[in-house]
Amino acid sequence: MDITEITSKTALVRSRIPGVDYVINPFLGCAHGCLYCYAVFMRKYSRRHRAAAWGSFVEVKVNIVEVLRAELRRKRKPGRAMLASVCDPYQPVEKSYRLTRGCLEALLEFGWGIDILTRSPLVVRDLDILRAAPDVTVGFSITTDDDRVRRVLEPQAPPIAARLRALKQVYEAGIHTWVFVAPMLPLNPDRLYAAIGPYIHHLMVDPLNYRQQVRDIYRRHGWDYALTDAYAVQTGAALLRKWQDRHGQTSLTLA
Ligand code: SF4
Repeated sequence: MDITEITSKTALVRSRIPGVDYVINPFLGCAHGCLYCYAVFMRKYSRRHRAAAWGSFVEVKVNIVEVLRAELRRKRKPGRAMLASVCDPYQPVEKSYRLTRGCLEALLEFGWGIDILTRSPLVVRDLDILRAAPDVTVGFSITTDDDRVRRVLEPQAPPIAARLRALKQVYEAGIHTWVFVAPMLPLNPDRLYAAIGPYIHHLMVDPLNYRQQVRDIYRRHGWDYALTDAYAVQTGAALLRKWQDRHGQTSLTLA
């Protein structure tokens, strides 16, 4: 993994995600290297890694906490920020750099609402901060119930079982948790829902949007069925039914 330190001029980036005012990305690049990743376009913002394979580099914005604090001081009122939108805020380098943690501390100090979205159990390291935050949600991207699928399509991301253990831990800490099944990889909706259902307050699903990137891999593994719109609709609907059976109302979002 090629890890480079860089500086950034901005931390808060205006967001078009409903309910989120800004996104914060402490890293450029993502060591999880999911093969279907939508954020591959971020390479064009890199000086050194424009032609590098996605998942082979991470640029660490070492001054981001300082920049964020300066921006927060200039805001007239608190807003809501999400970590992160084009990288995983708890990818392995976060363990030593602690930038996501620093951003959380700053947001909390300035009274901001916080949403986290990650594939990593490292988020439980920050439970002390998250417990103290009055308005925080923690979302886990859990894209399949089958770790064989995860190993092919998310080869460098944490195993599904590790994400599930972390989800349970965060839920049991009394924090608002959610799962983003995005994209819906080949999965069994009954098994996936049984694993996540007891530990979430909210569920979102999204189809596989960048099919071209993984079409050949799907075909090689006999997963062609999961490339169709019908698969996305049926799988999303099956998860929705499970949610309704449990909660009696629709709190599931088709992203
Ligand atoms: S964790 Fe998210 S940003 Fe990172 S490679 Fe996977 S899909 Fe892309």
